[in-house]
Amino acid sequence: MIRTALVAAALTLTAFASHAAPVYVHAGKLVDTLQGKVLTDQMITIDGERIVAVGPWKAAPADGKVVDWSKRMVLPGLIDMHTHLVDQEQTENIAEPLLTTAAYQAYIGADHARKTLEAGFTSVRDVGTWRAFGDVALRDAIDNGLVPGPRMSVAGAYITIPGGGGEITGISDDVKLPDEMRVGVVTDAADARRKAANILAHHADFLKLIATGAVLTVGTEPGQQELTEDEMRAAIQEAARRGTYATAHAHGAEGMKSAMRAGVRSIEHGSLMDDEAIAMMKAKGVFLVADIYDGDWIDAYGKAHGWPAETLRKNYETTQAQREGFRKAVKAGVKIAYGTDAGVYPHGLNARQMKYMVQWGMTPMQAVQSATTVAAELMGKTDVGAVAPGRYADLIAVDGDAMADVSVLEHVSAVMKGGVVVKD
Ligand SMILES: [Zn+2]
Repeated sequence: MIRTALVAAALTLTAFASHAAPVYVHAGKLVDTLQGKVLTDQMITIDGERIVAVGPWKAAPADGKVVDWSKRMVLPGLIDMHTHLVDQEQTENIAEPLLTTAAYQAYIGADHARKTLEAGFTSVRDVGTWRAFGDVALRDAIDNGLVPGPRMSVAGAYITIPGGGGEITGISDDVKLPDEMRVGVVTDAADARRKAANILAHHADFLKLIATGAVLTVGTEPGQQELTEDEMRAAIQEAARRGTYATAHAHGAEGMKSAMRAGVRSIEHGSLMDDEAIAMMKAKGVFLVADIYDGDWIDAYGKAHGWPAETLRKNYETTQAQREGFRKAVKAGVKIAYGTDAGVYPHGLNARQMKYMVQWGMTPMQAVQSATTVAAELMGKTDVGAVAPGRYADLIAVDGDAMADVSVLEHVSAVMKGGVVVKD
């Protein structure tokens, strides 16, 4: 009943907002991600923060404001399904997360959020932070207009085994980590259920399960399974009970398959996938979120900045394998959502992965859809990912043809979020 009342209140607010003058965007070209085609000379009518109509351009109406993007290509705001906005960007120091206070970290998150939005990513799914719930706070601060940033869907904390890929490892054994850095560390299925419930009670949007070791967590191996199938199933049941889902960080094929049998909606990385894992993703409709750009960043930047040899070795073992698996997954028709692991490389460079996805088997339209319609489908959202009536007026504009060369998306000329131009 309370929920119904809140929804009714929200609808009333939207109705009030609609008294503002409409905004008309004149789009020289418009990428229709729902139909998979490019339209020319379009008018996008915006009322408040939502799109109310899309159709051929007519003479500018007298009653509102015109945004002239008639020489540009307009697309829906992009979505990165694998970011880490709240943490410091990756460095050579494995103890980096212990060097800042939670308060300072909030400002770091705000800086990353602004860079991400200005790069044309108007929504992100943020898949974990070392200090639990900093992502929940950033999401709410953005929604409340305190800081600029993308719409965020957040994980709250990593669900991981002790010393697993979602822990801060490599420090001496007698250092006790702060409790807020171990909120999702689980030792059996009952513990996984309890901690999943706690994370969701703290207003995370979904769960992030660390099913295998990680490239960047020392002492763990990407090919090795960590959480058991029972632990993952227990957490996923808890998510389902609350109307949400879990995604699994899984590099190794066995960890991927175990996570899928347990019921995850998506697989992060999938670097060492085999044919059976690809067939399972296809058959079960599980989304693949493969960060096929950042391996090049780690190799070049990590080598130059003295990142641990173990990290560079694991990166080498997963980069090419992941790209080859990605190509097979595209060919097999697996649903692939755009996710880059931003934070491993600097925030704001999120669109760099576009050209890799085209190089490894996608058409430019498929790459753009992975970062719009497919990403929205994975999050279960029908209000982002397309320029269509009822959706948020989240738009970007580029000078150039993104369907001829997706790398123009690395230099977005204009960004609108919720009907407000944030960059032009
Ligand atoms: Zn990640």
